[in-house]
Amino acid sequence: MSVQKLVILGGGESGVGAALLAQAKGFEVFLSDKGALKEEYRTTLQTAGIPFEEGQHTEERILAATQVVKSPGIPATVPLVQKLRAQGTPVISEIEFAARYTNAKLIGITGSNGKTTTTLLIYHLLKTAGLNVGLAGNIGDSFAEQVITDTFDYFVLELSSFQLDDMYETHLDIMVLLNITPDHLDRYNYTFQNYVESKFRILQNARPEDDFIYFMESQPILDELAKRQPNIHQLPISLQTTPATGGYLSNDQLVSQNKNRSFGIAQSDTPLRGPHNAINMLAAILAAQSVGIDNKSVEDGLKTFQNAAHRLEPAGSINGIQFINDSKATNVDSVFYALSSMDAPTIWIAGGLDKGNDYSQLDELVSRKIKALICLGIDNHKLVDYFGSKISSIYETQDVADAIAKGLEWGQPGDVVLLSPACASFDLFKNYEDRGNQFKAAVQKVKNAG
Ligand code: ADP
Repeated sequence: MSVQKLVILGGGESGVGAALLAQAKGFEVFLSDKGALKEEYRTTLQTAGIPFEEGQHTEERILAATQVVKSPGIPATVPLVQKLRAQGTPVISEIEFAARYTNAKLIGITGSNGKTTTTLLIYHLLKTAGLNVGLAGNIGDSFAEQVITDTFDYFVLELSSFQLDDMYETHLDIMVLLNITPDHLDRYNYTFQNYVESKFRILQNARPEDDFIYFMESQPILDELAKRQPNIHQLPISLQTTPATGGYLSNDQLVSQNKNRSFGIAQSDTPLRGPHNAINMLAAILAAQSVGIDNKSVEDGLKTFQNAAHRLEPAGSINGIQFINDSKATNVDSVFYALSSMDAPTIWIAGGLDKGNDYSQLDELVSRKIKALICLGIDNHKLVDYFGSKISSIYETQDVADAIAKGLEWGQPGDVVLLSPACASFDLFKNYEDRGNQFKAAVQKVKNAG
């Protein structure tokens, strides 16, 4: 058999991992990135002796591929990808490629919000139970690279819609779909239904014995399920009703029923606040039950879980005022859940690059919980226009330390100062992590000075 030519488009974490796996599996590999590679990835490729190019795509060489692994960051609409498709060359994601080379059971998580938290939760519950489990997808180390040497029994995979778009045959044993709200519509021809279909690709190879865990109060999910009526074991999660099989929140109790096992825990006994985290924890509990983990391990895992930074992360307390860093909340839906989680009068820091935000879904929460708004962005007019008549104290700044000083001035013991921006960060910061880190550092500075 002739050697297969595999071309990789995009030299980030997943592309470089795919290149290493492809080389290990005997492909003739070539990696092409239109931009510049990070130094560490360049060195990895050079050390492995894998040919690559930067700053350009040499079409002739790419079109000669027998298959192509495309980075999720490259839209399907770019002419090169269109040409590959037109000539019948398979274009797949790193997940699809790597999944061919592992025997581990796969647990896939998608949704517009909550993916990282839920992925980390499931990973932590499986690890706490002593299972041999890997973590990959839209998080951490490349799936493909881990597969080269993996001996895992399970992989927990965070799947963005861009990754799902280039998946075709991968079989997932447990599928989690948290919610669907409009996001990234620029990549979906501005059609919400296209985005919904992308998310539902998570079910495309489901078998009747597999488990499908989903949030049943997400209307787009229900609509699509009603249309499809998939033949699969369904485990719904509800915040409003009490499904007999699945999970629900009743007062403070998280309750789940799966595979003839019942589990219950008070949310207040876990480190995660808010209704959105009730959904995420129920999804993780149900997944753990599907895997067969005993109740004691699930409980231990939930109690010892530490979420990733910038998601309702406690940032310190000054003069009895608590500071919370929710910099990852870059859309209105995330802020909705952040405000729902607040149980003290809240001074809200928001702003940044607006993504076409509609703030009306926050009206009720804002009127009940927000005592002041601090706008942290270059152009705050949308926030000021919308909330000007609804919040009595509004302040504008472009400086994190100044925002914190204002929060301290306006706050009283027992209050919360919450950074939950509803906007992208790129006007004033490198990214949401930079925004959150600057916030935390500025709080610490005031604390140390005091
Ligand atoms: P993702 O990886 O999908 O971006 P994260 O777990 O990083 O999700 O959470 C990002 C933000 O989304 C959080 O700060 C929170 O405000 C919000 N969020 C988390 N879980 C949910 C959920 N289940 N439903 C709605 N919003 C959520």
